Amino acid sequence: MSKQRIAILSGKGGTGKTLVSVNLASVAEHAMYIDCDVEEPNGHLFFKPEHILEKTVTVRVPRVNPALCDGCRVCVDFCAFNALALAKNSLLIFDGICHSCGGCVLFCPQNALHEEDRPIGCVREGSSGAVAVKSGFLNPGEASGIPIIQELLAVPASDHHEQIFIDCPPGSSCMAMESITDADFCLLVVEPTRFGVHDLSMVYELVRLFKKPFAAVLNKCTEGTNPAERFCREHNIPIFARIPHDPVLGLMHSNALIAANEDDKYHDIFSDLLHQLTKEISHAAVSHS
Ligand code: SF4
Ligand code: SF4
Repeated sequence: MSKQRIAILSGKGGTGKTLVSVNLASVAEHAMYIDCDVEEPNGHLFFKPEHILEKTVTVRVPRVNPALCDGCRVCVDFCAFNALALAKNSLLIFDGICHSCGGCVLFCPQNALHEEDRPIGCVREGSSGAVAVKSGFLNPGEASGIPIIQELLAVPASDHHEQIFIDCPPGSSCMAMESITDADFCLLVVEPTRFGVHDLSMVYELVRLFKKPFAAVLNKCTEGTNPAERFCREHNIPIFARIPHDPVLGLMHSNALIAANEDDKYHDIFSDLLHQLTKEISHAAVSHS
């Protein structure tokens, strides 16, 4: 069986994206959970993984040899990100906004520039029962976690986990885009508020832009009208699950417990959701073959 990559998105934090991700990975048989929310990773708090291996993630940044630099400005003019400046013939390098394109090093006529590795965070990989758990951690103050997300998602073909659940960064930023690039299916988690609908509309546009198959999970459902459900109906978005607004669930989640492992009702809700996802992805694979 080929791997199924399922990305779980939400328009903003706090809608239940991690709740859905960790519970799906827990009810699956051969799952990998990947926390791409590298600015605020919290999935590991639920899984409490063991046997952790840590890998530092670095980016390449330019360094100047002042003895060779003649202040010609070629590099400064080349850098599209304004990461270089000359002050009194000294080259200033702003690491935080450098995009590691390497162009300045290539074009320096004096060979005054070279590249060095600069750490921006790390990836930690461990296991929690049968679930492989990978989490990315971006160092505070860093502008982009994309290199960490790329490292997280580089799962070798030889890996035996059949389903990969990608807990995406909130919103529809570059980091969210990077997280869904290779996804087979996207789940949009939404809460029943006007803000929730606004945020849903953003990730809805994102998954359509990437031409990904997708469905919604309505979280915190109560009796009465649900603006998120209305939005889904109006836009023909399939609803794969409705998770109730339940203080017991909230308590389990705030105590970093995985509801599907604690309560049969939630085990059934997430098993049904997983079944729907598996069926939908298999069906899509057959239609495209
Ligand atoms: S291109 Fe090279 S020589 Fe010119 S300012 Fe930049 S580092 Fe200095
Ligand atoms: S590597 Fe690219 S982004 Fe970074 S300073 Fe050089 S030209 Fe600018």
